[in-house]
Amino acid sequence: ARKFFVGGNWKCNGTSEEVKKIVSVLNGGQVPSPDVVEVVVSPPFVFLPEVKNSLRPEFHVAAQNCWVKKGGAYTGEVSAEMLHNLGIPWVILGHSERRAILGETNEFVGEKVVYALSQGLKVIACVGETLEQRESGSTMEVVAAQTKAIAEKIKDWSNVVIAYEPVWAIGTGKVASPAQAQEVHNELRKWLAANVSPEVAASTRIIYGGSVNGANCKELAGQPDIDGFLVGGASLKPEFIDIIKSAE
Ligand code: 13P
Repeated sequence: ARKFFVGGNWKCNGTSEEVKKIVSVLNGGQVPSPDVVEVVVSPPFVFLPEVKNSLRPEFHVAAQNCWVKKGGAYTGEVSAEMLHNLGIPWVILGHSERRAILGETNEFVGEKVVYALSQGLKVIACVGETLEQRESGSTMEVVAAQTKAIAEKIKDWSNVVIAYEPVWAIGTGKVASPAQAQEVHNELRKWLAANVSPEVAASTRIIYGGSVNGANCKELAGQPDIDGFLVGGASLKPEFIDIIKSAE
């Protein structure tokens, strides 16, 4: 009974006007009940309060990142306790763009997850291999190492969602096939069973991200170990509503 989870990662996109438009599309869409699907959208920091306050109440918001420890003299950073203070329930951590472009290591992401959870946030923790790693046959090794850096630091997984996002599928239009995604999700669940516990493996949601759209979501959603999506580009468009509907 893992509730389907659909996240919309807006990344570094949007003007104030565009944000209002997206929110009005989200607020007007016919979607399954919150018993069936958990919906979380992740605008840039500056829009978080506005989106949180104008979004339909059954949808929630996530920050796209936060600082690794307690706030202080860290110019340009936003702390987990600030997010919690504003009533922001979720944070995305370890997105591949932050790993690859901003240099975040597995260990640093693990520390961020621990600190964010300790401050009462729920975490969408991202993992995934590059094309080179896939082609060299090391997909599971990479994904396991990324997950291990988190698993060895936390005990309670009830506020964690894992997002499997193969880097080669992000923003490329090259979606993983349902079989390719299912295979990694299943391996990851087996890894959790062996290295954390069978209970955590059975209850933790593993969602897929990478070129998900209104046309390919249904077949992906039908895979037994795919518990939802983390959507980039299509989360800025009306088809995000269709992706939410794939929960049914
Ligand atoms: P796209 O859906 O644009 O490929 O992005 C996926 C992603 O990175 C979500 O976090």
